[in-house]
Amino acid sequence: MPDDRLKSYRAKRDFSKTDEPSGEHADPNGGRRFVIQKHDASSLHYDFRLEIDNALVSWAVPKGPSTDPSERRLAIQTEDHPLDYADFEGVIPEGEYGAGTVIAWDTGHYCNLRARKGPNSMSMPRSLEDGLVEVWLEGEKLKGGYALKRTEGGKKPRWMLIKMDDEAADARRNPVSTEPDSVLSGRSIGDVAEEAQKPKKAAEAEESDRT
Ligand code: MN
Repeated sequence: MPDDRLKSYRAKRDFSKTDEPSGEHADPNGGRRFVIQKHDASSLHYDFRLEIDNALVSWAVPKGPSTDPSERRLAIQTEDHPLDYADFEGVIPEGEYGAGTVIAWDTGHYCNLRARKGPNSMSMPRSLEDGLVEVWLEGEKLKGGYALKRTEGGKKPRWMLIKMDDEAADARRNPVSTEPDSVLSGRSIGDVAEEAQKPKKAAEAEESDRT
């Protein structure tokens, strides 16, 4: 299994404590997916993930993506995640890496805009190395071209996420605030956090009944 990309991901997590997928059962079918997960961790951010080489290459975007081509959003590259992480919604327990609530804010398929016929074609892995990724997103909230450009400096690889100027660009939209909920389940961050509390509370009630 070509899982070298997930070494760092697994090293940070205790899968007996978190419900996040370990990536042992990833299904490589179904084309190239992207997902943007809203993650209410120590600070709220959006994890932008692109399926590349059987893993989800990931960036944390503190302000979330914009539909306005004049906006540049900081995107800090983080460890690659397993493909089945794209469907993960839930609560990462207190004390674990990335503790907090996760929902799938947007998802769909993407294509590589730098893939061309001939010698100038850039595969996704080559685009990553080159520090310029250009993709066309077919999501529910986000559509059209997005560029990720690597910038210099900083300990973690810093990139900028920028909407390309195309027919899907719209400076008046602000989906991060007007469309806050999950595209997979319709739930908000608060709904998911609350649901995760229920079994815990029930177990606590049972415990105090016994004592
Ligand atoms: Mn995150």
